[in-house]
Amino acid sequence: MNKKTLKDIDFKNKKVLVRCDFNVPLDEEGNITDDRRIKSSLPTINYLLDEGAAVILMSHLGRPKGKPQSKYSLKPVAERLSLLLNKKVIFEDCDMVVDDGVKASAAKLNPGDVMLLQNTRFREEETKNSGTFAKDLSSLGEIFVNDAFGTAHRAHSSNVGMCEYLPSAVGFLVEKEIRTMGDALKEPKRPFTAILGGAKVSDKIAVIENLLNIADNILIGGGMAYTFLKAEGYSIGKSLLEEDKVDLAKELMEKSKTKGVKLILPVDTVVGKEFKNNTEFITTSSDSIPPDYMGLDIGEKTIEVFKNVINSSKTIIWNGPLGVFEMDNFAKGTNAIAEAIAKNKDAVSIIGGGDSAAAVEKIGLADKITHVSTGGGASLEFLEGKVLPGIEAVDNKE
Ligand code: AMP
Repeated sequence: MNKKTLKDIDFKNKKVLVRCDFNVPLDEEGNITDDRRIKSSLPTINYLLDEGAAVILMSHLGRPKGKPQSKYSLKPVAERLSLLLNKKVIFEDCDMVVDDGVKASAAKLNPGDVMLLQNTRFREEETKNSGTFAKDLSSLGEIFVNDAFGTAHRAHSSNVGMCEYLPSAVGFLVEKEIRTMGDALKEPKRPFTAILGGAKVSDKIAVIENLLNIADNILIGGGMAYTFLKAEGYSIGKSLLEEDKVDLAKELMEKSKTKGVKLILPVDTVVGKEFKNNTEFITTSSDSIPPDYMGLDIGEKTIEVFKNVINSSKTIIWNGPLGVFEMDNFAKGTNAIAEAIAKNKDAVSIIGGGDSAAAVEKIGLADKITHVSTGGGASLEFLEGKVLPGIEAVDNKE
């Protein structure tokens, strides 16, 4: 990895601005329902404090669309962070995020102090990386650390903009994300298996295209599998179909053959009459889905086929659930595959953020996985082989 990391910089007596991903889920009353994102920023924050820095934290929360809105305030995050760090967190509840008052209190910070700014998306300039917002933010400190992987695929003021004004480094969380995923894509231990699911083929086309150059096996499940089955010439009943992607699915299957990549589709599928948990359901072979049924999960035989491939793999990347895992009757495929990945101790296993990460968390297997990414969109773009602007902008090692 050629980007500067925390170990490359002396933070003693410095004011360090850290972009975190505190975009946590909140309930109706504004209580945090899952604080994993806050917890995962602690190693970087604690390291900086131990090294003698004062830290000024920045994050977005939700989509306030450039306007201050109290329901998107970072106040609950400040409170939770204070509990987790066991120290005071100075919360700057400023609608402008940074103004003369915030500048004055930042100037008074001492080593060991922690300050949290208000939601960066209260300012319109944030998502456009325009105006003087990045310059104003950077005037608060002397060094910038990007530890928000979840927004690394976006060029915003609080990540890309900051790097224009301050010396920069990636934090521990971003370092782990890019090291694990980067190594897996650059020099994978083989066999390398990618498992792709989720609702839409269109979201995963670029990922499949890129992985056709790298992977040995690509296992396809979830709603997107039915467009591929249709491309094979099968009737798929009322299953999810992207009609305009059938030809492309055919092309991808052809390409996999010429490149020697095994692209494996479900051999059987659990089909239901309606899109709900307590619908009538049966398992059928993938080539005989009845007209009035829809595919909602991979079947037992497919689970076995996929498991065999997973068991003999040395690198596994998984993105997207293999069925409608939110409904218990159709979560079996997703759970079985999560278990199989967790059980393979010889493999480097990586799970893209979003639904597949939620699935392994739900069944308590996250700690058996080498790396569960904190960024859904960012990890997908990484798997597409794209350069992430939020990381690209950070200083290179000298
Ligand atoms: P994505 O955001 O593309 O990763 O898709 C995740 C969503 O795909 C989840 O909400 C799943 O319920 C849904 N999904 C998975 N399998 C199917 C299926 N066979 N039919 C419809 N939706 C599905």
